[in-house]
Order: sequence, then C-alpha cells, then structure tokens
Amino acid sequence: MDNRVKDLLDRIRGTAGVAADVAADTARVAGRRAGQMVDVAKLNVQLFDLNGEYNEVLRQLGQVMYDTHRGRAPEGDRVTELLEQADERAERIAELKARIADLRQAESCPHCGAPCGKGDKFCRSCGAKL
Ligand SMILES: [Zn+2]
Repeated sequence: MDNRVKDLLDRIRGTAGVAADVAADTARVAGRRAGQMVDVAKLNVQLFDLNGEYNEVLRQLGQVMYDTHRGRAPEGDRVTELLEQADERAERIAELKARIADLRQAESCPHCGAPCGKGDKFCRSCGAKL
C-alpha cells in the first residue's frame, strides 16, 4: 500500500473512538423517545433515503481513497468532512432503527405478554390469535 493511502487510513482510524461514543449517546436518546406515536411506514421511508445518502458518502470516501492512491490528493480536509457526514448519517440511521424497533414492539400479546408487531395476526411466542 502506498504511503499516501496509509496516511489517510491512519487519520480515519484516529476518528473511530469519537464515532463510537456518539453512537452510544444516540442509542440512549432513541430509548428516551420510545413510545412516541410515529408512523413506522414514514420512518421506513426516511430510513431508505438515509441509507442512500450514507452509501453515497461511503462511495465518495472510496473515491477519495482511490484518487489519493493515484496521486490526486483531495483538496482541503475532504476526508474529515466526508467522515463527519458518514458519522452523522450512521447516527441518524441507528436512531431511526431504534425508534422503528420500539414502535414495532409497542403492542404485546394479551395471552402471554410477549412483544408483538402491530400488524401481527398471531403471537410469535405462544401462537394465540391477536
Ligand atoms: Zn402470546
């Protein structure tokens, strides 16, 4: 691996701890927001769009990596900028997924109390009709 790409990877690794801390905070915030009445379908549309944005940022990071390898280093601090964008999307994706999971488990089986999806016809735990 050439040194420019190695330097780039070292810088990317240097930001990893911060991203993990932010993700943990996001999970706590998502937990507090549990129970809000939000349409799961709308959240899934947001999630789909966010995943598209996230993948595009990752594609651009890959492009910067390859450009660097080819001797065309990015202008300014493009890598940090893209990493921040990726982190921001990843946090929002994690938050959305947590909210969707909370909403889907908002109902419970009247027979056994197991968490059920809102659209479920039968309990996944005891098989009772809902
Ligand atoms: Zn049940």
